[in-house]
Amino acid sequence: MNTPIAIIGAGLGGLTLARVLHIHGIAATIYEAETSANARAQGGLLDIHEYNGQLALKAADLYNQLLGIIIEGADAKRICDQHGNVLLEWPSTDNGGRPEVERGELRRILLESLPADTIRWGHKLTAATPLGGGRHLLSFANGSTMTTDLLVGADGAWSRVRPLLSEVKPAYAGISFIETVLFQSNSRHTASAEVVGDGTLMAVVPNKGILAHRHASGTLQTYVALNRPEDWFARLDLSDPVTAMALLADEFDGWAPELIALITNGDTDPVLRPIHALPVKHKWDRVHGVTLLGDAAHLMSPFAGEGANLAMYDGALLGEAIVANPGSIEAALIAYEKELFPRSAETAAETDGNLRLFFNETAPQGLIDLFTQYLPEK
Ligand SMILES: Cc1cc2nc3c(=O)[nH]c(=O)nc-3n(C[C@H](O)[C@H](O)[C@H](O)COP(=O)(O)OP(=O)(O)OC[C@H]3O[C@@H](n4cnc5c(N)ncnc54)[C@H](O)[C@@H]3O)c2cc1C
Repeated sequence: MNTPIAIIGAGLGGLTLARVLHIHGIAATIYEAETSANARAQGGLLDIHEYNGQLALKAADLYNQLLGIIIEGADAKRICDQHGNVLLEWPSTDNGGRPEVERGELRRILLESLPADTIRWGHKLTAATPLGGGRHLLSFANGSTMTTDLLVGADGAWSRVRPLLSEVKPAYAGISFIETVLFQSNSRHTASAEVVGDGTLMAVVPNKGILAHRHASGTLQTYVALNRPEDWFARLDLSDPVTAMALLADEFDGWAPELIALITNGDTDPVLRPIHALPVKHKWDRVHGVTLLGDAAHLMSPFAGEGANLAMYDGALLGEAIVANPGSIEAALIAYEKELFPRSAETAAETDGNLRLFFNETAPQGLIDLFTQYLPEK
């Protein structure tokens, strides 16, 4: 069977592309490895930026739905030292520039905006074989196959589509997060809730830090960041969370108990999130009938909070390029990639710089300078 447009991956980027095409009457099929929309907890808060994520949702005609899921007050930010002393604090703003939303809610509004048969769940792409003339044969782990005239890799960090365009693989960025979740912090983890404040807490010193968000429900979600090689984390046996998190806490010796509790008092199993990135200027030569968006195109560390915003923006702009070039997929891909490469290189460079600035030998001074520059005046 042939599908004219095949999008691999139902992340925020792939969904936005399908939605923009849908509202312009162009059908696309998304093939997603996960078996259902609820196969995996989506976790995490995302701030949706005025200059990319919000524009994407406007192009997808979902801006009003975005307004409906904004978590009031969650964009408050606080920088602490390791003793819990507040060094800088910004209360929440109402200017709409970077409102925070739950990632799962954002994904839900995108999923609900598409016809039910747009997404083929349980379709993990295992191979994409060029057939000539820009067409590809897609093979899936469930044994099914499909041909397509336009193949879009929206399949994230370890994209199966990327090798058709580029030999480059993501490299370890030198830092990993261990994610913990503490429920009902207002009643069960009051000291930690107090130190995190209403939105995001950042407590960093050279080579390590604790980054935590308070969700509207009172849940505290923490990324414990440590600048160590990957094999150091491989030795941390997360199947024994109590011992593993005690070892991790040892790395934060002397930190305030309410900060340490964010490491040791998790209510769920901790999750290791090694940070990888593609080279800042990652690009490829045009290949007929195939392109990439989002992390598949420009995986970067999360230190500018741009990855999800860019994925949606890529999806929207690719959709608009396809709409603007009826009958010529190549013209659409040329127009899309011409803007994609400089846009992602600029953000990847910023993110790369932030990664060093967060945890360098002057930390937390670099972070304070950065946020003083970007955040609105009190
Ligand atoms: C710890 C952390 C914190 C972050 N915080 C932020 C933040 O605050 N703000 C922000 O903007 N960004 C943030 N990011 C980055 C953001 O999560 C990503 O950039 C974004 O999710 C990329 O979207 P995507 O659609 O390109 O890919 P993904 O969200 O990775 O989606 C890819 C989809 O493809 C599917 N898939 C993968 N392989 C296959 C296959 N072979 N066949 C079929 N389907 C497949 C996957 O199951 C998935 O559903 C963070 C990242 C991390 C790791």
